[in-house]
Order: sequence, then structure tokens, then C-alpha cells
Amino acid sequence: MDLFNGNCVVKKKKSNRVRRGVCFLLFYVVIFLGYQYYEKKVEERIRHEDMIYVTNECLKVGDWKCAEKNVRELLESEPNDTNLQMHMAGILFEQERYKECINYIEKLTFKHEDLDYLVEKSKALEQEMEQLGVEKSMHFRLEFDGGPSKKDVMEALAVLEVAYDSISNLFDFLPENKMSLVLYQEKEYQGVGARPEWVAAVFDGKLRVPVNLMAYREVYRPVLFHELTHSFVRAMTRSNVPCWMNEGIAQVIDGSHNNEERPTGATPSIEALRKSFVNETNTEKAKKLYWFSKRMVEELLLRNGGGTEAFRIFAKCLQDLRKLGTDGALQKHYGTTAKDLLESIR
Ligand SMILES: [Zn+2]
Repeated sequence: MDLFNGNCVVKKKKSNRVRRGVCFLLFYVVIFLGYQYYEKKVEERIRHEDMIYVTNECLKVGDWKCAEKNVRELLESEPNDTNLQMHMAGILFEQERYKECINYIEKLTFKHEDLDYLVEKSKALEQEMEQLGVEKSMHFRLEFDGGPSKKDVMEALAVLEVAYDSISNLFDFLPENKMSLVLYQEKEYQGVGARPEWVAAVFDGKLRVPVNLMAYREVYRPVLFHELTHSFVRAMTRSNVPCWMNEGIAQVIDGSHNNEERPTGATPSIEALRKSFVNETNTEKAKKLYWFSKRMVEELLLRNGGGTEAFRIFAKCLQDLRKLGTDGALQKHYGTTAKDLLESIR
């Protein structure tokens, strides 16, 4: 009995141990698989959130190729997301793929006034290009406003294409995307009289050029070079560029504010030079900020001889702003900080 029991106990013990072993093993396998699944899910979520973040960044700066790639991928996992679909339509439009844009919108199962607008605008733009007999530009995505004449449009485009080539060569940088260009006809002013104050192009993500500007030969070249430089700066970095760097380089390239005397009074603060001063209404204050911006950028260029190489290093510095911040990028390429640079030209 004892012996039998003993055997049995031993046997039982053995099978219990095996069972316990199997149980432990299963437990660990389940934990392991569960953990792996969890990790995969977390990874997927992070990837998804990353992609949304990058997409928004690309949309914000008008990097349509990057935006399209990301939105297409996001649409694969959420094909019925109307927000993504609207973005997709907009991205096609922004790339001048008007027919594709119209076709895409027509296949969507919902309606939205923004989509109606895109269809209408796409059709109008196609028609306008045809009427003007203007081919699609190599580097600019064209829009017209106010019915400019073919002559003015062609002339503005010719100057802009030349400017594009020189700036691209200077920075050794070829933008990934076409630049948005709105050529508009200012209604109230038909180009009579002396150079009017209103003559100014604007860059607000799109380059806006009044074609009436073409009547003022002495101003249109610098103005177009200036604004185009801003377009290039935007194309080179997704970062917020300190205003002094942006306005400084644009003035150096447009070459219109040479030989201006140093403004009197205190040197502006680095903070005043960093934030946007393009809408500064106090002329004296604005003049001073522009003057110091130009000098700071000139100083950076001079540190590398002021020639072609100097502009290329400046371009590299701009491209590092996002990763390194202003002082980090300035340290890397010039061994200085914004404050020290300002100090050096005081
Ligand atoms: Zn400017």
C-alpha cells in the first residue's frame, strides 16, 4: 500500500511537475506573445501619429509631394476618412493636377463646399491657362487673378525663371516642389505716374506678384529676387527661420539696399530681430531692423569669403535650423551665436 501509494505519489509528483512546467511555459509564451502584440500595437500607433505629424508639417509648408505620399498611406488604413479625402483633393489641386483633382472629387461619396470650390477653381485655371496660351511653368504653379494680360504674364514668368535659376545655383538647392505663384492685376492702378508705393510683391506661402509691376523696370527685378529668395528659404527648411536671417539674405540677393547708412540710435535686441518685423508700422524701427538683418547675414557670408561657397554654407545652415535651432546651426557652420554675431557688428 505504502509502496503503491509511494509510487503513485512519485508518479503524481512527476506529472505535476511536468504539468507545472508546461503551465509555466505556456504562461511565458502567452506573456511573450501578448507583450509582442502590445509592442506592435504601440509601434503602429506611434508610427501613425508620427505620420500625421509629418503630414501636417508638409501641408503647412506646402511640401505637396511629401504630403501626398503620407496622405495616401494614411488613406490605406482609413479609406473613408473624409478629412483625409479632402486633403488629398487639395494636394492634387496644389500640384496643378487639375483634371486628376476633379476626377478624384467626382468619385467621393460626400459633398463639401470646399470641394465644390476646388472643382470650380480647377476648371477656371485650366481655362485661363488655355486662353492666355501659357504653358505650365517648370518651376511655378501658376494662378491668375484679375485678368492679367498675356504680355505681362510672360514677362513676369521670364524674369522669375531666370531668378529661379540663379538663386537655385547660388544656394546649390533645387526645390522639391513647384513654387506657388499668383500673378494678379491690380484693378485700381493701371501703371500711370511715377513708381507707386503699392508696388510690392508679397510672399505668404504663395508668391504674389502684381503684374502691373512689370511696367516699373527699375523695381521689378529686385522685388522678384527678394520675394523669390523668401520662397527658397521656405523650400529649404520647415523650421521657423529667424526674421533677420530671412530678410537679411533676401536683401543681400535683391541687392537694392546697398550703401544705406547705419541707422542712428541703439542696436535692436536679438529678440526684436528674431520675431517677424515685416509688418512693423514704425518706419524708422523697421528700417533699423532691416539694416541690421542685412549686416548680420553679410557678416556670415564674409566669414566664408562672400563668394558662391559662402551662400552654399548659408543654405546648409538654414537647412540645419530645424534640427539644431538657430544657435546650434550657427555654432556648427560659423562657430558663433546670434547674440555674438550681433555684437560683432555693433
Ligand atoms: Zn522680405
